[in-house]
Amino acid sequence: MAEVGEAGYMGFISERRASVLERVTEAASRSGRDISNITVLAVSKTVGDSEVEAAYAAGYRVFGENRPQELKRKVAAVRANAALEGVRFDMIGNLQTNKINQVLGNAELVHSVSSVHLAQALARRASSQGLVVRCLMEVNVSGEASKSGFAVADARPAADAIMGLEGIRLEGLMTMAPANDRDAARKTFSGLRELSDELRTFTGLGLPVLSCGMSGDFEVAIEEGSTLVRLGRIVFDPAYKCV
Ligand SMILES: *Cc1c(COP(=O)(O)O)cnc(C)c1O
Repeated sequence: MAEVGEAGYMGFISERRASVLERVTEAASRSGRDISNITVLAVSKTVGDSEVEAAYAAGYRVFGENRPQELKRKVAAVRANAALEGVRFDMIGNLQTNKINQVLGNAELVHSVSSVHLAQALARRASSQGLVVRCLMEVNVSGEASKSGFAVADARPAADAIMGLEGIRLEGLMTMAPANDRDAARKTFSGLRELSDELRTFTGLGLPVLSCGMSGDFEVAIEEGSTLVRLGRIVFDPAYKCV
């Protein structure tokens, strides 16, 4: 990680958090939104336990991991540390059915449900343990071949299938925008919001969560209705250039 001493890193992460929150607040006010409806999730996938502790001390409470095994490991480390209270970890990365056990009971929200097959497997495993797993449908709004998630055209039948499963609760949608293209990002995020409105009408579910926006595009995402931004490099990496 970064070439800064422990005290230096703490100073960095606190200052960076203040500037991130200021930008979140400004983006929210530009679009007439209340920041209490926006969660800033710190993506800790590239950092270790000490950086998570520094982020906690700076004020972050919600973290995201993209690998089931590392999610499980970090959750165990946090639970073993009495100083870290009220921490939540979400699963934000690709999930294979044979890794579900590492995520159940450890992730508070699974952002990356990208097939009905995965939803069925999650639901089956959760209900057999008496759990209800909260999840989002990952949607490939931009249609890039490199991205996973439901095609927009498949989202309605998929939501219909998922909402009927016992052991799973569909709480919203997640997407990733094309990198380094503001206009494409805006279109992706507004497309996600429109799809969410349509699914809300179609399913009658509340679907309160719109998980979109990363280090390079979170302000656009908030302007377009994101309720949860997933920030990695801008939170943890001193070398990340804020634009
Ligand atoms: C890594 C990752 C992020 C964070 O990306 P940054 O550009 O570092 O903010 C967000 N969402 C997902 C799914 C990721 O894998």
